[in-house]
Amino acid sequence: MDLALIRKSMVDDQLRNRGIKDRRVLEAFLKVERHKFVPEDLLDNAYADFPLPIGEKQTISQPYIVALMTEKLELKGTERVLEIGTGSGYQAAILAELVKQVYTIERFDALAKQAQATLLAMGYQNIKITVGDGTLGWPEEAPFERIIITAATPRVPQPLFEQLAEGGKMILPLGDFAGQVLTLVEKKNGQPHTQDICGCVFVPLVGKFGQ
Ligand code: SAH
Repeated sequence: MDLALIRKSMVDDQLRNRGIKDRRVLEAFLKVERHKFVPEDLLDNAYADFPLPIGEKQTISQPYIVALMTEKLELKGTERVLEIGTGSGYQAAILAELVKQVYTIERFDALAKQAQATLLAMGYQNIKITVGDGTLGWPEEAPFERIIITAATPRVPQPLFEQLAEGGKMILPLGDFAGQVLTLVEKKNGQPHTQDICGCVFVPLVGKFGQ
């Protein structure tokens, strides 16, 4: 199995063909070995066009959704980004290719440990992982120019909006089990400006300011 070739097909068929254009984003997806973030028994599906289970009833998102969320953040390379929901660590690795520093919070210790091991083995030096309730954010490291929430919540957790820098962007699935909309939130003059992107399906954001 030529995984580099399969990865290239994923980038062409699932990302480029569906409108992902940011050259840096496409390059990150060509580079990051997604198969290292999925359980071994699912290796054959590592580059498939759907989410996969990663344990603790959680999932690694479909490649296209990871790419879309990443592109919408309009990353230049200088940013400090906060991710809520480390999961497998795949989104964190993609971000680490594109920004200065990634902070990521996971509520399950086992997932955080596994992601940490994967990311360390790949040599990433610009990702900090912590275990806890991500809806509270990471006040010691705030403000963040970008925030990405990879689990669904009916409303933007207030602490996270507070920890978003002025002029910053946050992307998240807004909604519950019944339905969710991928939403971009920009902070302008301290106020949220939101834009709906598309329907989506994520596991719930469980926490004090989540579901
Ligand atoms: N970004 C991940 C996919 C995440 S799935 C990846 O690339 O693989 C969503 C993750 O959010 C799950 O691992 C879940 O445990 C986590 N999560 C849910 N609520 C959370 C909370 N309040 N704080 C931190 N993590 C949370």
